[in-house]
Amino acid sequence: MSCLICAGPAEQFPSVADWEERKCPKCGHYRVSQALVLALMDQGQIFDVPKARAWLASRRMNASIPHIQTAQGLLVSE
Ligand SMILES: [Zn+2]
Repeated sequence: MSCLICAGPAEQFPSVADWEERKCPKCGHYRVSQALVLALMDQGQIFDVPKARAWLASRRMNASIPHIQTAQGLLVSE
């Protein structure tokens, strides 16, 4: 399965409730809201890889698995 952030090869975990979970060697372990994944696909939006990785790294100080619920500030177009 591919990473939702960088599209590289990533380990996929069984979905928990409404979350897509991935473990990417480059982006790390994270969860993304399924609604957000669908919205991004619908709009043809993709994550800005450096921004998303920096966000995940900052969140990882407080949570072992960061959850991305809103892509605000993390997209290529912003
Ligand atoms: Zn990745």
